[in-house]
Amino acid sequence: MKKIAIFSAMMCCAALMAGCGNKSAEAEKPWIVDRFDDVKVIRYEVPAFEQLPLEEKILIYYLSEAAKCGRDILFDQNFKYNLAVRRTLECIRENYTGDRETAEWKALEKYLKKVWFANGIHHHYSNDKFTPEFSQAYFEEVVATIPAEKWGELEALRPEVIRSIFDPEFAPSRLNQAADVDVIAASANNYYGEGVTQAEAEAFYAAMVDPKDPQPISYGLNTRLVKDEKGNLKELVWKVGGLYSPAIEQIVFWLRKAEAVAKEPQKSTIASLINYYETGDLREFDRYNVMWVKDTVSNVDFVNGFIENYGDALGFKSSWEAVVNFRDEEACHRTEVISKNAQWFEDNAPIDDRFKKKEVKGVSAKVITVAQLGGDCYPATAIGINLPNADWIRKEHGSKSVTIDNITYAYDKAAQGNGFLEEFMLRAEDRERLAKYGKLSDDLHTDIHECLGHGSGQLAPGVTGTELRNYSSTLEEARADLFALYYLGDEKLVELGLIPSLETAWAQYSKYIMNGMMTQFSRIELGKNVEESHMRNRKLIAEWCYEKGKADNVIEWVKQDGKSYVVVNDFKKLHQLFGELLHEMQRIKSEGDFEAGKAIVEAYAVKIDPALHQEVLERNAALKIEPYGGFVNPDIELVEKDGEIVDVKISYPADYTAQMLHYSKNYSFLPTINE
Ligand code: ZN
Repeated sequence: MKKIAIFSAMMCCAALMAGCGNKSAEAEKPWIVDRFDDVKVIRYEVPAFEQLPLEEKILIYYLSEAAKCGRDILFDQNFKYNLAVRRTLECIRENYTGDRETAEWKALEKYLKKVWFANGIHHHYSNDKFTPEFSQAYFEEVVATIPAEKWGELEALRPEVIRSIFDPEFAPSRLNQAADVDVIAASANNYYGEGVTQAEAEAFYAAMVDPKDPQPISYGLNTRLVKDEKGNLKELVWKVGGLYSPAIEQIVFWLRKAEAVAKEPQKSTIASLINYYETGDLREFDRYNVMWVKDTVSNVDFVNGFIENYGDALGFKSSWEAVVNFRDEEACHRTEVISKNAQWFEDNAPIDDRFKKKEVKGVSAKVITVAQLGGDCYPATAIGINLPNADWIRKEHGSKSVTIDNITYAYDKAAQGNGFLEEFMLRAEDRERLAKYGKLSDDLHTDIHECLGHGSGQLAPGVTGTELRNYSSTLEEARADLFALYYLGDEKLVELGLIPSLETAWAQYSKYIMNGMMTQFSRIELGKNVEESHMRNRKLIAEWCYEKGKADNVIEWVKQDGKSYVVVNDFKKLHQLFGELLHEMQRIKSEGDFEAGKAIVEAYAVKIDPALHQEVLERNAALKIEPYGGFVNPDIELVEKDGEIVDVKISYPADYTAQMLHYSKNYSFLPTINE
């Protein structure tokens, strides 16, 4: 998996914790700055930015400017007329002097907000075209009130803009991967020119690939494939002097400034990226990626380029994106401590000695703080990054895998007060514990799961690891989760200074059980089983512990005012039960016991009680929580004195519309139509 995508529909429960402390002086400012349709816009803060050395702050400033300069590229990549639609609506928004209180005007404003959020007229996640809630007649009426000189080149594009917004048959989907269609003709994205068919594109790249090349370039990654006047296929390269040149020149301008202040090896890495942008040479892009992945010393790091190919049905073309970040020292320290003690955790695990690794090496995960998002990472972003994508580079040089802590933190903050916890968590003491320790317990749960859990244990002689077949990922996730849950409740963590007390574990326990036995069902359609392996694993663990602890009333179903709640009565016993189940999970894996694995999954992980399922869906729907989230960027500015940069200031604007208009005015470099 290249990216860890997150949106709150998928993280109803991950997002419900409070933060672990006061990270900000601006704590009173609301975290959610805007909401419309199925989207909420959140601001994020950049803790520890002020403490960075001045030269690193300046580097972040230059890289952040470069991150903003490619915004138009993504709009154009997503659909040929996206810039025309955006600019037309922005022109209306700026110049309309009529009534701004009518329902139709509000609908027009909302539509523009959606276009900004999705970087185009198609939903960022479903890829379906937005349906306007204002009429074409209203649109034309408003347009007619605006003086002709305001329109410029947009006037001539009016018919295409109207079709794009109002004709549901025109470009209905940005990305259509159905098996029975020409995926290029059926997708509205702008990666292939007029009249190029799927068969032609596939043949074009099949002819280009050298199957014997051990280090193949990412063919077609940075081009649009078009037909010339004679009908022959050719690539228009996205580079300085090629397609998107005006925006790429600006990106290069800021990268040069960054190169000038960066230290080696980062200086050479940036130089290589500039060279690639100037030549469009994909071998240079690979050289850049190798240098980038090998650089594990630079505190400030960044992504800037054509990176992910999710937007192209054939998977050749990559969308432009940018992220600027630096190391989160505190969080990195946490994973280092865990990793250093890996052998202790292995030796003391509640599993059979035969299945313990004699020598275990923990993985230390890198945690970063994001300072700026751009292109396909803005406003909606992932919470983790794993790059580069080229398989041969990953094999020969590895990859960088990071999680983004301040974005997760902002998601958590935004989820507070949405009513979810009050609705589903019965006891005030459990909610308070979560408010205090939720973020820390969640981070540690992930750290132990990733740094130790998956790598722990060993197979019995003769077992290959393939025996568990279709149950293997559920069982493996359960094993890693149990390793984390068990050790969260162990005094060793207090001793290592990772948690203040076991209260941190109890916060995670009450939430985990509630999620596994109840609230996660809000993401599943009524009548369906649990299919996804992480969801199965959570249900398996919670239901197994419920049943095994029944005699001692460890976990209890409570009915109050006609609503169901699940509560944990005995955290210490639950800790023990996690240990017992881990023992069995390790045995199943180590012995490759397919029958036992199948039996435990089918008994506890799959079937949902229909009455409970319906209740959860109804209660969750009543909360009206937006399933998608995105972010406004902080503003980063240079402070100069007598021509010298003396400081770099960061601030946290809370106005989504103002930021979008600001970017459209100051970071918009491309013509409306790019051919
Ligand atoms: Zn896992």
